[in-house]
Amino acid sequence: MAEKMKGKGVISGIAVGKIMLAGQNLDGYLKDYKPKKKADEKKIAADALIKVAANLVKTIEDLNKKNMKEQAAILEAHRMMVEDPAMSGAIDEQVDKTGSAPRAVLDAYESQAQVFEQMEDEYFRGRAVDMRDVGKRIAKYILGIKEPEIGEGKVIVAGQEIEPSVIAGLPSEKIAGVILGQGSTTSHAIIIAKTRAIPSIVGVGDAIEKMADGDPVIIDGDTGDILIRPTDEERASYDVKIKKQEELKAHYAELKELPAITTDGVKVELVANIGSPADVDAANNFGAEGVGLFRSEFVFMGKTDIPKEEDQFKEYKAAVEKCKGNLCVIRTMDIGGDKPLPYIQVGQEENPFLGYRAIRISLQRRDLFIPQLKAILRAGKFGKAGIMFPMVINVDEFKAAQKMVEDAKAELVHEGKEYGDVQLGIMVETPAAAVMTPILAKYVDFFSIGTNDLVQYTLAVDRGNAQIAYLYNHFNPAVLRLIKRTIESANKEGKWAGMCGEMASDPNAAILLMAMGIKELSMSAPSIPKVKERIRNISSSKAKEILDKVMEMEDGNEIKAYLSTIS
Ligand code: PEP
Ligand code: MG
Repeated sequence: MAEKMKGKGVISGIAVGKIMLAGQNLDGYLKDYKPKKKADEKKIAADALIKVAANLVKTIEDLNKKNMKEQAAILEAHRMMVEDPAMSGAIDEQVDKTGSAPRAVLDAYESQAQVFEQMEDEYFRGRAVDMRDVGKRIAKYILGIKEPEIGEGKVIVAGQEIEPSVIAGLPSEKIAGVILGQGSTTSHAIIIAKTRAIPSIVGVGDAIEKMADGDPVIIDGDTGDILIRPTDEERASYDVKIKKQEELKAHYAELKELPAITTDGVKVELVANIGSPADVDAANNFGAEGVGLFRSEFVFMGKTDIPKEEDQFKEYKAAVEKCKGNLCVIRTMDIGGDKPLPYIQVGQEENPFLGYRAIRISLQRRDLFIPQLKAILRAGKFGKAGIMFPMVINVDEFKAAQKMVEDAKAELVHEGKEYGDVQLGIMVETPAAAVMTPILAKYVDFFSIGTNDLVQYTLAVDRGNAQIAYLYNHFNPAVLRLIKRTIESANKEGKWAGMCGEMASDPNAAILLMAMGIKELSMSAPSIPKVKERIRNISSSKAKEILDKVMEMEDGNEIKAYLSTIS
């Protein structure tokens, strides 16, 4: 019998492979290390920083050559952490305390990791892993430890925390699955796994300790089941599921180049939500026809100061170019409240979700907003771009943002920099905006409905509170009415409406939205095939019948149950 464990399945699918443990323990090596004089140890650490940075540059070049952009981007961030001048000072201080170069490196990066860990935002907390990873990489260099060999076959990477460099250093086709001890879904390992649809399980806790390198394992990303050293019978019991999965994958691959069009010819654009230009490559593999939401706050995170216009321009330009003539909608930074940045003073707030955030910050901070707008406008010259403002609640905010865009253009003209024609739109994610869409539609080029927030604000249900998650339902009739109103308002004014909240990835919701007249659905790329399949197998007239019936229903759960019977 296999050793059975359970975690929380976060990326569906079954994976078979050998365990590859991440997170090597260095204690033994540190004990054996014989430090020299403090001045020598400081020199050893300083030399290691230079060597490790140089090695990273080489690895990044190799990854880029192989088109492994996501991995290259992670290691690029690591290179910056190695070369951060503040870190070399912190390491010297630690050498004064401990006398050992590898110990000092680990301690210096550990204390920076702890700063990240105390941040409220889950994304920042996730970056603590990167800090520790970098510290360990440098310490391993000093201690002369080599990275493990992968060998034949596919691996399931497992670790309490999985160091991003482990994932980044492995060829994509080698990683069959991911098992994470802790429960975070925003760790790099999971972010990468999501864009590539690698089956993943999180939150297995100390069960990780029971796994050994090379153990054969089966994981089920739907149920969260893990079978270590399965017997032949246990393996065979998964064969049917695996076969089905392979067939589905092959079928989805066939859909890649086909449009999302109903049997009677109504087309919906299926596009991707991304956090970095590298995500566009993965999205294209799932047949995305562009980007409906580039969460630009990722460009602002993990930095100690406002990213320069030029640095932002490079990111946006790369994303726009990768969209190859399809629209790339870049959302201006949705930061503040629960997502703090060190260079924006928000202060303690009673209700961060109702606080100083997103467009509210942008409109008050020209020093942040204008460089971002200039960078996006310039990127627009390299393809088709859109600017989208988050958290808008009234017409005035849109007009003020529009005026800032004009100011940004004037600055570019003055500086002799070229810019493209970009569409201007808003996220409809507050009930106020949704109610006002008949007026807003006169001014904007497009709406993108952000249901993650629209549901939470309409129903007064915190989107992250598990205790009241049963109330969080995008089929709630109040939510559906706001969505329908938004789509109809756009269409009436000859503008387009899309959706970039999670609801867009629900195939049953897609039917209703299409019947309401939505033009674009934006989602995490691996969801595209299943939504496409649903749209391609229904007529718009049938979808309208379903919508009419749904709009007569009084309760969100009833609607959900009804839709599940017709799929
Ligand atoms: C939304 O609110 O639906 C949305 C897409 O934005 P975010 O999830 O980034 O708040
Ligand atoms: Mg939102």
